[in-house]
Amino acid sequence: MPVKEVLRLGHPLLRKVADEVVLENFDTLEFASLIDDLKDTLVEQGGIGLAAPQIGISSRVAIIEIEAGLTRYGELEAMPLTVFVNPQVKVLNPDTAGYWEGCLSVPGMRGFVERPQHIMVSYLDAEAVSRTIELTGFLATVFQHEFDHLDGKLYVDHIRDMRQFVYEPEFDRFVAPQLDQG
Ligand code: ZN
Repeated sequence: MPVKEVLRLGHPLLRKVADEVVLENFDTLEFASLIDDLKDTLVEQGGIGLAAPQIGISSRVAIIEIEAGLTRYGELEAMPLTVFVNPQVKVLNPDTAGYWEGCLSVPGMRGFVERPQHIMVSYLDAEAVSRTIELTGFLATVFQHEFDHLDGKLYVDHIRDMRQFVYEPEFDRFVAPQLDQG
């Protein structure tokens, strides 16, 4: 059963700081099936990323896959499905920009969140090789959203004006047309 149920807002595991992955974990069957389950679940559910706590595993692992031209924020380059283990985010420029975020753990909702737009991420890949990646713009937001899950945080925690927390159909009807004009 590789496709897992995605935990929803209110499940206590989504609020727990996930456990660090240690080197001995990488070569285990458990680790391999966690990666498989994350991939299968992301493909089934759709979306940009998924973190292990969202499928009930308290482990600092997340996957992200970007399809080119996926969002209304335009300029996105494709990024093949990538595994991030024990990621650490360093803010290179604290200037923020806001985007309407959504989350598989908060189905049917959208919320406007501002985050720093220039970050550096250090992480281990699925083979335990240490890597860094620098991100700007919407991608910086995507990565911070996913890695927040490893610290028991959800995007709703960052919504400053609750009037900008809306249902998806209402987002499409009332919010999106204004964004497209801007
Ligand atoms: Zn999420």
